[in-house]
Amino acid sequence: MIHANNPAPTPRNADILRSAALAVIAALTLTAQTAPSPPAGTCAAGVGVQILGSGGPIAESDRAGSSAIVWIDGAAAILVDTGSGAFLRYAQSGARFEDHRAIAFTHFHADHVADLAAVLNSGGFSDRTEPLTIMGPTGSADFPGLNAHLQALFHPQSGAFRYLSGYLDGSAGKAKLLPIEVAADAVPAPWVDTKTGAKITAIPVQHGIVPALAYLIEVQGKSIVFAGDQNEFSEEFVAFLEDRKPDLLIVHNVIPEGPGQPRGLHRPPKQLGVMAAAINPKLLVLSHNMKRALDRHTEGEAAIRKSYKGPMRIAGDLDCFPLG
Ligand SMILES: [Zn+2]
Repeated sequence: MIHANNPAPTPRNADILRSAALAVIAALTLTAQTAPSPPAGTCAAGVGVQILGSGGPIAESDRAGSSAIVWIDGAAAILVDTGSGAFLRYAQSGARFEDHRAIAFTHFHADHVADLAAVLNSGGFSDRTEPLTIMGPTGSADFPGLNAHLQALFHPQSGAFRYLSGYLDGSAGKAKLLPIEVAADAVPAPWVDTKTGAKITAIPVQHGIVPALAYLIEVQGKSIVFAGDQNEFSEEFVAFLEDRKPDLLIVHNVIPEGPGQPRGLHRPPKQLGVMAAAINPKLLVLSHNMKRALDRHTEGEAAIRKSYKGPMRIAGDLDCFPLG
């Protein structure tokens, strides 16, 4: 029986349906080719590092500002920086706020920290009430340190986002933040997570007038170094990690080699190579990729290679580096 309002497809209708189906398949294929690679699968087992934001600070590409997750056994355990644009990548990564063991900030330039409030705002919709360790450098006359930064955002009377002040005292069902301010002049004892055994060592680095830290993260026999933003005068950092042979050394790729480039905040490629050769990682990852550096990458790579001969990769947003 054929219902009047449900006619059998005529040849013309069938053609239209076939074209529509092909269009959908084509659209899905295009999506699969152009969407960022799905992340959580490759970082789900053991220890892995996922770069959330591989760019910044200029809005000049589809790269978010600096941010990364250290995944431990399928959990987004440690968040290192939450730069501008990281919020969207955080969602795409499949990270769950409930799984964080610590958030670690290298310094308080906006391209490393601007999305903190957005991540916490999102986390406020989760069931998490467990306190959350958060670490970052002390301040200076020019830059508020971690505690002052958190107060500026969340102080119940004066904070810009005072409606999230529960993150300071654990009220309103929020996860209380447990700040650890690290003086940017000596390597303190590591912080150890009692649940995962992850050990985080903050290492002061030189970043112009900005108090700044690098991080060594060790867990399950793997080690990862986030070099943060640093100039070539960060000698104590190199001395502390000399021939440490970490599984990953993640560095900024911000300025091209050669004269006429801004100096004082970052290592040029040649100095990235000197640092990498001294630390001797199993893989050097270039992140915080600025267009000006990528545009002259051939020259930059040659400068790095003068000292460092080991494996090297340029990170993209959501790239995962599984360490087993
Ligand atoms: Zn910076």
